[in-house]
Amino acid sequence: MSVVVQKYGGSSVADAESIKRVARRIVETRRAGHAVCVVVSAMGDTTDGLLDLAKQVTPLPPGRELDMLLTAGERISMALVAMAIANLGHEARSFTGSQAGVITDAVHGRARIIDVTPGRIQTALDAGHIAIVAGFQGVSLDTKDITTLGRGGSDTTAVALAAALDADVCEIYTDVDGVFTADPRIVPAARKITQLSNEEMLEMAACGAKILHLRCVEYARRFDMPIHVRSSFSAHEGTWVTDKPQGDSVEAPIIAGVAHDRTEAKITIVGVPDRAGMAAEIFKAVALAEINIDMIVQNISVSETGLTDISFTLPKTDGQTGVQALGRIQGKVGFATILYDDHIGKLSLIGAGMRSHPGVSARLFQALADAGINIEMISTSEIRVSVVTRDDQLDDAVRAVHTAFGLDSSDGEAVVYGGSGR
Ligand code: ASP
Ligand code: MG
Repeated sequence: MSVVVQKYGGSSVADAESIKRVARRIVETRRAGHAVCVVVSAMGDTTDGLLDLAKQVTPLPPGRELDMLLTAGERISMALVAMAIANLGHEARSFTGSQAGVITDAVHGRARIIDVTPGRIQTALDAGHIAIVAGFQGVSLDTKDITTLGRGGSDTTAVALAAALDADVCEIYTDVDGVFTADPRIVPAARKITQLSNEEMLEMAACGAKILHLRCVEYARRFDMPIHVRSSFSAHEGTWVTDKPQGDSVEAPIIAGVAHDRTEAKITIVGVPDRAGMAAEIFKAVALAEINIDMIVQNISVSETGLTDISFTLPKTDGQTGVQALGRIQGKVGFATILYDDHIGKLSLIGAGMRSHPGVSARLFQALADAGINIEMISTSEIRVSVVTRDDQLDDAVRAVHTAFGLDSSDGEAVVYGGSGR
């Protein structure tokens, strides 16, 4: 029997009614003759609620206890979904991540999966039962403590289980009909993408498209697991993320979509002596603080002073740590000041076809110029162009670029069925 793994996100299981709707959908898949393993997220904004609660108790919750707390969210939804399925006359068994064999390293809050041993799930499926697994969690091989995979980690749980169970497909159910050419909450004329390569989906996820967890796409690519992103609120075909051509698609379009990100800040180090080794000193300090940086720009030095400015972007959440780390090497490097700016936004244009099509950057910059939007930083990869703008101009920038590349759909607005987009 073919195995299908389905993952339902928080907005798909937000309340009792939604849970019953999802249960019906799961049962339909089972009745169609598939073995079904379901991964669930916490109901609605439960995870945020639990985080808020922890912060009210202490400013610095111990990682082990925070993971214990947050994993409770998924345990609530898994049990409720299993009960709703039982009520429809089918056998369902719920399992925590640990029971499902999701083995991780010991890093609380962002554990990595090191092995999946789904013996109990396989036994349940062999018995004809529907298995319901709590997403976003596992158990550390070393410490035996419960871990979480990082925000949005249920997608990764689903793909990891799909690979371990040798499933035909991993279906990710969400509150929109698939992956769109831009966030439909910002661009109502965004259109659904029929198929994306893993490479394009990786860039989209890395550039702020919140629809799929970055690590889930990395995992899917490694194990060659097709992902089908679709809505739990409609029966429409969604977006396939796979490198195998689906249906009658021939050549990929030049542009896949426009992603945006508001989670980064910019640090500018002013008056850096323009000598060999200075950038190395600066970025060593940032690396030692365990901060992942994104874009870097170094200006040409002013010839009279021999001084230059270096700017880079980093997650806002690491902003304070970054400024402090640089403060400690100010004397050694001898720069003048550090400027911190958390009012930036990043727009990224992504598409595998831009490799072989010149003029993509020129068109992007022209569209922004026409919309009166100033570009502060630029970075590119083979299949992506990203720019930094003021954060309050980002939405306009996304809309302008979406239109300039002919991505606007004419057939009505994209539907957002639920969720807060939080
Ligand atoms: N409930 C977790 C979160 O909100 C995991 C997930 O939804 O994938 O981040
Ligand atoms: Mg969630």
